[in-house]
Amino acid sequence: MIACLDLEGVLVPEVWIAFAEKTGIEKLRLTTRDIPDYDELMRGRLKILEENHLKLANIQEVIGGIAPLPGAVEFLQWLQSEFQVIILSDTFYEFAGPLMTQLGNPTLFCNTLVVENSGKITDYRLRITDGKTKAVRALKNLNFQVIAAGDSYNDMGMLKEAHAGILYCPPDNVIKEFPQFKVTRNYDEFKEALIVTREALLNPSNP
Ligand SMILES: [Mg+2]
Repeated sequence: MIACLDLEGVLVPEVWIAFAEKTGIEKLRLTTRDIPDYDELMRGRLKILEENHLKLANIQEVIGGIAPLPGAVEFLQWLQSEFQVIILSDTFYEFAGPLMTQLGNPTLFCNTLVVENSGKITDYRLRITDGKTKAVRALKNLNFQVIAAGDSYNDMGMLKEAHAGILYCPPDNVIKEFPQFKVTRNYDEFKEALIVTREALLNPSNP
């Protein structure tokens, strides 16, 4: 059985919001909730980086000062002792590095940035569209059972695709729109939900 886990909002803060706070660039706070078209959102972010002469190293330095959410390191250690774990994220390897080091370098599937020799970020590349859902589907095709957990809209595809889905600290609109998923609000609740869910998947006849 494999646990597929979202990164931002579950183990670490939202990277772009944290970066906006550290730099004071208010426009970088926009997320997919404000601009649903991901490409438009990313083009806007790249433009802001260019206008402010921010290179990859500047962003990595700021991200290097961001810590995982309180309790996340211990939670992930526990999770890895109970399940095979893959982090499925819409972030970029170039951003995630310093945070993944703090998390003990778990397996991460995400996307990449296109960076010039000067360090300027010129573009981004999605490894594949809807990568979270497709990763879960591929694991199912390898005959794994999959529990997926995340906090927001971009996780709903993988939660639906998985054998079971769990929400962690989701916003109210997500809870309302996806009432089929169990909601957890701290790591203790999350652990219990994972154990109960695994039990139910392994022993479907004993509810
Ligand atoms: Mg998230």
